[in-house]
Amino acid sequence: MREDLLSAVEADFQLLREENERTEISRREEIRRNYPEIEKLAEEREELIHGTIRKILSGGEQAEKLPEIMEEKNARIRTLLREAGLPEDYLSPVYRCPVCRDTGYTGDPVRTRCDCFRKAYQKKLRESIGLGNGSRETFESFDAARIPADMIPEIGRSQRELALFARQQCEQWADRYPENTRKNILLTGPSGTGKTFLLRAVAERLIERDFPVLVISAYRFIEIARKSYFEGGEGMEELLDIPVLMLDDLGSEPMMKNITVEQLFNLVSERNARGLSTLISTNLNLEELVNRYTERIVSRISDPRNTLVIILQGKDLRSV
Ligand SMILES: [Zn+2]
Repeated sequence: MREDLLSAVEADFQLLREENERTEISRREEIRRNYPEIEKLAEEREELIHGTIRKILSGGEQAEKLPEIMEEKNARIRTLLREAGLPEDYLSPVYRCPVCRDTGYTGDPVRTRCDCFRKAYQKKLRESIGLGNGSRETFESFDAARIPADMIPEIGRSQRELALFARQQCEQWADRYPENTRKNILLTGPSGTGKTFLLRAVAERLIERDFPVLVISAYRFIEIARKSYFEGGEGMEELLDIPVLMLDDLGSEPMMKNITVEQLFNLVSERNARGLSTLISTNLNLEELVNRYTERIVSRISDPRNTLVIILQGKDLRSV
């Protein structure tokens, strides 16, 4: 788990607990102001608890009847709250997660992280690596039924067949990582044929398996590259270091003289030299890629010895 994200989630939980406490205080104040009868019972209940603790600590008698008396008072408080048009649990401790009461931990004496904490961490992780917080795109949520099954005459296969094959290849790749013989993936095909979906599904699977991955748009890549070209800075270092980098929608970024081609070349060569995985999606076909980025880049991002080239075809699924 990443330390920076863990600290951020811890801080969120701290804020949540403070907010819970403020809610409890303001509710109690409201009761004190407007419902003297309930307030009186609540005070008696507190005295009962504190008095009993004092007795137990001083070695005095244990109040055997305490649970019974407590339940009587609680029942009375619930009734009065209901009659006042308030929820029955209005004076109960406030928390979002009943399992850990927003501490983020469960278990005693051995503490483990609560599921709610792990979920919050995963959410932050997905945001931080570019998966956003929208609906998750996973192999499980891949829906082949909405992909046209009619034959594409030029290739003798349907769009659905191609997509299912691509899905299978991507999933296998994600499950085998880092033992893949081919370190890279190039996904090409017209827009809306599911390339970004598959990239994200690979990313999700790698996260599940605890491998570090980063998803950025080609547009964002050029912003980082331009900044580091003109102003220095460490933006490029992360892109060169991350074990799995996904560059989404190559070809959509602005073509900047001396920068786009050069920086892209440096990125893919350096990552290949380091044995790291780079996954690229693009709407451009190989010929268009060569025209835009030159042969020497394309030979590096589509070299069949270390790149799994996946070609999608068909209609834009967002419009079918
Ligand atoms: Zn919890």
